[in-house]
Amino acid sequence: MKHYKTSIASFIIMIWGSFSYSQTPEDEAVKWLQDLIRIDTINPPGNEFRAVNFYADIFESEGIEYETAESAEGRGNIWARLEGGNEPGLILLQHTDVVPAEEEFWTIDPLSGDIRDGYILGRGARDMKGLGVIQLATFLSLHRSGAELNRDIIFLATADEEAGGFYGVDWLIKNRPEIFEGAGILLNEGGGGSRNEEGDVVFGIEVTQKVPVWLRLNAIDTPGHGSSPRTTSSVTRIVQALNILLENPFPPRIIGPVAEYFSELSFDMDEEWGPSYADINTAIRDSAFVQKLHSSRPGHNSLIRDTCSMTRLSGSTKINVIPPQAWAELDCRILPDKPSEQFIEELENMIDHTGVTIETIMAFTPAISETNTRLFTAIESVTQELHPGSRVLPSVSTGFTDSHFTRDLGIVSYGFNPLITESGEHTGVHGNDEQVGEAAFRRAVNDFSAVVRNVVID
Ligand SMILES: [Zn+2]
Repeated sequence: MKHYKTSIASFIIMIWGSFSYSQTPEDEAVKWLQDLIRIDTINPPGNEFRAVNFYADIFESEGIEYETAESAEGRGNIWARLEGGNEPGLILLQHTDVVPAEEEFWTIDPLSGDIRDGYILGRGARDMKGLGVIQLATFLSLHRSGAELNRDIIFLATADEEAGGFYGVDWLIKNRPEIFEGAGILLNEGGGGSRNEEGDVVFGIEVTQKVPVWLRLNAIDTPGHGSSPRTTSSVTRIVQALNILLENPFPPRIIGPVAEYFSELSFDMDEEWGPSYADINTAIRDSAFVQKLHSSRPGHNSLIRDTCSMTRLSGSTKINVIPPQAWAELDCRILPDKPSEQFIEELENMIDHTGVTIETIMAFTPAISETNTRLFTAIESVTQELHPGSRVLPSVSTGFTDSHFTRDLGIVSYGFNPLITESGEHTGVHGNDEQVGEAAFRRAVNDFSAVVRNVVID
């Protein structure tokens, strides 16, 4: 009887084995994405070790060697390498953490992973478990095919991107530098395809990003009673410094990738905007245009200048007490063509006479990835072939990803995802009901693999 049971079991395993073997890479990827969404890696706290276990199981069953490291308890990272020729290695970089979800605003469990009306739903479907699984599918297909590679290809899944990457890529660069050895190119999140109402497809490739420079303004002055104000106080000094910033927006300046990006955007624009976007260097000399851009397109305004958002303020804890100390925090983002030290110095000169001092909370270094590379050409030619009439657009992100860490290492890093989003489609990234169209996702699994094959196989 026992023997009989075992036979049934092995028979089922055999059937299951042949069934799963006959799955297409796209079927497999859909299943993985559903499974991965169901793994809670909400950051904080992260618990990325769960995603590490998920990937480790897959690598084990495929016979792929891998390594893992925890930067702190539960903050797991995993990487694996397929060896190839001497060309600079290609890293496929993903983060496994996701941002929190406010369940009461969702129409489905944020960790559902279920498919509804053709969409795979759940936190991370787009940012970025979807692309993470797309990268995995490509990595495994190269391993399974046994194809001869012209370079190493490195799968790297990391913790903590959503909180700055300090327990992920930043930590790995400092503690596991061998992962990045010999790597020259990298694909990460930050790009994507979109189809407009006319049916034109554009793939944005993120080549650089605004550089965050987070600052605290501090003021110290004589404290006292609210009933008898002096000519200055810690609070008036902060107000004065902020007022200078408010009334003197940083002058517009155009960096190469922004000029290129705006010029590409101009093709789809009407008479009102098109000519200015086509020649943005001239347009920024017209103050009426600059004003109009700022009031109606804040995202694009922030691509033509350094900006500082005033986000935190603190003075007295009591209404009738003039405090000895007051502070304000600024989320500044600078164009990636000058060091943050220079920007801070300029800011210091502007507010010098207020007596306010500047403390740096966080500042990254600027870097731009060049586009005259085999990888960029491959993205252009393969997407063109797979989506005739489509265009590729180098883009500049106003936010930041982990790519700034790898650009600092001299690795050409692109934000690239061939996933096409339809005009007006709900994505829910960092919002409610995050979702990805199943058909678009399946297509992206195939297209990403085609781009990577073009680069790693001669
Ligand atoms: Zn992300």
